[in-house]
Amino acid sequence: MKRLVMKFGGTSVGSAERIARVAKLVKEFAAPETIVVTSAMSGVTDRLVEIAERVAQGIEEEHIHEFVAYMREKHISTAQDVAREEEIPELKAEIERLLSELEKILVGISYVGELTPRSLDYVLSFGERLAAPLVSAALRKEGINSRWYTGYEAGIVTDSNFGRASPIMDITEERVREVIEPRLKDTIPVVTGFIAGNEKGRITTLGRGGSDYTAAILGAVLDADEIWIWTDVDGILTTDPRLVKEARVIEVLSYIEAMELAYFGAKVLHPKTIEPAMEKGIPVRVRNTFNPSCEGTLIVSEQEKTSDIVKAISVMKNVALLNISGVGMIGLPGVASRVFTALAQQKVNILMISQGSSEANISIVVEKGDVERAVDALREEFLGANIVKHVQYNEDVAIIAVVGAGMRGTRGVAARVFTAVANAGVNVLMIAQGSSEVNISFVIAGEDAAKAARALHEEFITKRH
Ligand code: ADP
Ligand code: ASP
Ligand code: MG
Repeated sequence: MKRLVMKFGGTSVGSAERIARVAKLVKEFAAPETIVVTSAMSGVTDRLVEIAERVAQGIEEEHIHEFVAYMREKHISTAQDVAREEEIPELKAEIERLLSELEKILVGISYVGELTPRSLDYVLSFGERLAAPLVSAALRKEGINSRWYTGYEAGIVTDSNFGRASPIMDITEERVREVIEPRLKDTIPVVTGFIAGNEKGRITTLGRGGSDYTAAILGAVLDADEIWIWTDVDGILTTDPRLVKEARVIEVLSYIEAMELAYFGAKVLHPKTIEPAMEKGIPVRVRNTFNPSCEGTLIVSEQEKTSDIVKAISVMKNVALLNISGVGMIGLPGVASRVFTALAQQKVNILMISQGSSEANISIVVEKGDVERAVDALREEFLGANIVKHVQYNEDVAIIAVVGAGMRGTRGVAARVFTAVANAGVNVLMIAQGSSEVNISFVIAGEDAAKAARALHEEFITKRH
């Protein structure tokens, strides 16, 4: 292997001791050319979201100072432990510069009293911008030449869809090759995950959990041989270990299977991570920072046939089910397209769709945070016209996706899925039409999620072994 991208998640860089461990892992596993991507220290991005929201609602300025003091304590104390003695003063000064910038933007938001997606991205950027200098310093302490870059400095340029930006791949490829590639011979650059910039250089973010995506983007534009996602579990597991304790590591997954799992809520990978890797055919490996002897999960394009029909079960919470109904919809062309256009204009992300055969209703699943915008958009679109009568919603649902390439061409899987779910006493609210052949997904009440996941895990995975 010649060129490797390694990404470390929040828990992996969550303390001085952990950052030091990361530096050792990089030293041990580095390829001749290696790029490191880092997340913010664990919990920091959540805290930044929280303070930004509170500031916009108008809290006292002293709370801002308290928050900045908390960030100072966390990052400065870590700096003291991870850096070489002689580098500590400069590293501290760098952290102070970032913190004073953070303080100014928070005070600015408090004056304006409004938090735009653009200013939120700016605030969130400090998590990774404070972590990357620490990781880079820890590498230098291990005797590795290193400096750090923000995603934008490294060359990642996105559209201006703040909070959920997508890379503009041709510009990104050109810039990353210009900035990062020449450094690879004698250094290991550390790049902030999650954050990038638009063409004007404004800070954007790739969506929560987006550091995985950063690693994949860099891997793809630099033609890396592999992309490794170092996290806090042994790999991609057969289901969410927080819900089902029997969850086990999956050794090999295809790109499509991994994509479906990530898309439907397996938090271990950001949903867009696989796309750039798949385009270039780059293997992605998910491994455990705290158990590096475990080989983790390998994600590749083609896979030998296995006897496993179902590989994994994912659970996506925090979603809402919208139901659009009205007899006026029957036989009227174009209703569905008006629904989608109205939602797209409001940048509502549609996760699942199904239309009853009677045509008198369309069900849509969206993220919980989008539900108000979605309902308003739909009511406005159809207001007055005698087509859609009701736009109802249920905010407490979950999507369960049963994933496995072996389901393709195997009869009776759906029957087994729904029998297992019914036997667990769980009611199915909606089933998606036309989802890919490697996935059966459906919607249930949020409170039934763990029960359904356990029943399916038992039926398809535990029983098999
Ligand atoms: P990181 O900070 O390293 O990016 P995340 O918290 O984003 O880590 O993702 C890892 C977590 O994802 C695990 O600790 C686990 O609780 C959760 N998770 C949910 N579903 C799965 C799954 N199918 N396989 C592995 N982990 C999962
Ligand atoms: N720090 C960001 C988040 O918490 C990105 C990441 O961890 O991947 O969402
Ligand atoms: Mg993550």
